[in-house]
Parts: sequence; structure tokens; C-alpha cells
Amino acid sequence: MKTRKMKQIPYSHQCIEADDIQAVIKVLKSDRITQGPNINEFEAALCKYTGAKYSVVVSSGTAALHIACLAAGLKPQDEVITSPITFAASANCVLYCKAMPVFADIQPDTVNIDPQDTQNKLTKRTRAIIPVHFAGHPCDMYELSRIAKSNNLTIIEDAAHALGADYKNSKIGSCRYSDMTIFSFHPVKSITTGEGGVVMTNNKKLYDRLIKFRTHGITKHGFIYGCQGNWYYEMQELGFNYRITDIQAVLGKSQLSKLERFILARRKIAAIYDNVFKGHPGFDLPVERGGIRSAYHIYSIQLKGKFSGKRKEIFDRLRNRGLGVQVHYMPVYMHPYYRQNLGFKAGICPVAESYYSRAISLPLYPSLTNTQVQAIVRVVKEVFNGA
Ligand SMILES: *Cc1c(COP(=O)(O)O)cnc(C)c1O
Repeated sequence: MKTRKMKQIPYSHQCIEADDIQAVIKVLKSDRITQGPNINEFEAALCKYTGAKYSVVVSSGTAALHIACLAAGLKPQDEVITSPITFAASANCVLYCKAMPVFADIQPDTVNIDPQDTQNKLTKRTRAIIPVHFAGHPCDMYELSRIAKSNNLTIIEDAAHALGADYKNSKIGSCRYSDMTIFSFHPVKSITTGEGGVVMTNNKKLYDRLIKFRTHGITKHGFIYGCQGNWYYEMQELGFNYRITDIQAVLGKSQLSKLERFILARRKIAAIYDNVFKGHPGFDLPVERGGIRSAYHIYSIQLKGKFSGKRKEIFDRLRNRGLGVQVHYMPVYMHPYYRQNLGFKAGICPVAESYYSRAISLPLYPSLTNTQVQAIVRVVKEVFNGA
């Protein structure tokens, strides 16, 4: 029998609709395609949604992490504790400031940073914690903020996965338990601007610094040398051009108005997976702890039992059957740069390394059709039956 090649269902995909496109076209035809009114409007909408006082939209989630670390005042020799199970940017931003990331192990069920191991990794040099809300499930912010308070640490939440998530009756992004929170608007995330990101904060001093770092360290008020005329501006810090365009900001505004629908769609698909795979002998499912609403950025299963050692084989079979499965993530310190240039070694976070060896992310995004979800379920069942 001939096997027909199915188009791969990716693990994630943006959801761009006709009105998103219309909004972008309107800006393209306007006078201000960058540094225009849509920047402030997108920022205001993000504040309204999350409840945070200030927001600074930038060109990527990585840029957001970088200026957050700069605003926090990270210096060479400082240490910052983060999770190993994350995208490299969560730790690279620390290196940008010539400070050193330190990896605390994860909780096996949520795959989030373990507060107890965070406590264990504290030293005299620890200056900050960057918790990552893995897969959109918020970290134990209550415990982490308690550790931060008693050790005078800054918390920067890497919420690249978690726009739309709730933690104990507050929105992630409200900064109720942190100093700053970053989001990413990359196409795989909750909403997209193509590339884009934001830093949220309730702290006016941090906000003023973030605004400067976004635009070359330049300011048009609060002069150090005094105003010399209407043309005058000062460069007071070594900043960057991390601005986002109005073309992107208007897309962000339009996308944000659909966030709730997107999250509900993600949660509905996750609930289908939860239901059909509950008690499956081959793998454990993602959890959602009490008091949490996960944004379900990804749906990462963990192989177990006789399947534990077969991740590559199962991954390849799923790919060959048209599922664009992915692995989130190899522990950051296992990358060659971290091992060869910074001296990290395997074994420092055993729970994270065990998780990595057994993880596979199934496709999950709002525009997956019911037919596609049923096809994914069928393929997963068949692959595990045949393995
Ligand atoms: C996507 C992502 C980032 C970086 O965001 P970009 O917008 O791609 O720069 C940072 N941290 C995590 C956990 C991410 O998933």
C-alpha cells in the first residue's frame, strides 16, 4: 500500500486573522510606522490586562530580558539563579551583563525551578532570580518572593510562555511577586508581533531605566547638564536600539484583544489530551497545580517505564507520522558554549537532566482543528502501541 505523506502539524503556530492584517495595513499607510502612537497604546493595553503599572515594549523577549537585567543593575561577578529547563535567552541575558547564571534544579511535576534548590544555590554574590514559567504554568512565586525578600534579591519573571496565565488570583505580568516580568511575542507564544517583547513593572525607577536602555540610553528630560534648547537630549547610559515598530505594536494590540480566546482554545485542546491520555502507561502528563491557570504554551509529556530510554525512537516515529513534535528543552548548561567557555558540567541538576531525556512536546496552538487533534491523538496511541 502507498503511504501518503501527511503535511507536518507543527508544535506551535501563530494565529493571524483578517482584522490583524487590516490593522497592520492601516499603519503601513500612515505617517508613523515606528515611534508612533501604537507603541503607547499597546503598552497601555498590556498594563490594563495584567494590572501592572508600567510596561516597555521592545524588539524581542530577549531584548526585554537584557534591559531588565541592566535595569536591575547586574554587574560582573554577580550571580543570578535561573532554571536549566528554558530557552537559552533566560540565562544568556545574565552573561550579557558579565554576570554568572547559576542553575537550580526543577520540580519534576511542573518542570519549574524548585524553591528549595534555589535556596540551596544562594551565595554571597547572588543578586537576582529569573524564574521561568515553563509551558505557561506559573512558578511557586510565593516561595520565591519570600526567598528574594529575605536575601535582598531582584526577581525578573521570564514569562515568555505565560501571557494569559494566572497565579493565586493575579495575572502573570502584574508583578505582584516580582520586580519585573518579561513576555515574548514570537510567533510560537500566546500572541505575536512577529518579533517582540515587553518588560512589565510597578516600579517607577526601574521603568525610567528601562525606557532609557531601549533607546541608546538617551533621554529628553531629567537632564544632567541642564537643558540647552528644544533640540536637546542627553545620552546618560550605554543603551541600545531595542525599539519595536508601530507596524508590530498595532499587531500586538489586535492580538491582545484575542488573548482570552486563544488561551481558552489552548486549554480546551490540553484538556482533550489530559482526558484521552490519563493513566497512559507510557508517559506522564503536564500538571496544573491548585490556584493556577496555565497558559498552556506547550504540552510536554514525560516518557516513563519501558519507554524511558526510547525518546529518540518515539520522537522519530511521531515525526515520521506527521507530528512536528519538539523537545523543550536541553538543560541550558549542557550547550557547548556553557560547557566549553564557562566550565559547566553534566550532573548539576539531575531532575532537569532526567526530565530532558524523557520529554516530548505535542502540537498545541489555538488554530488546531478538531480533526487535527483527533489525528494527533490517534498517531500518539499507535506509536506507543507499536513501540
Ligand atoms: C521565547 C523565549 C524567550 C525569548 O523570546 P524572544 O522573543 O524569542 O527573544 C525567552 N525565554 C523563554 C523561556 C522563551 O520561551
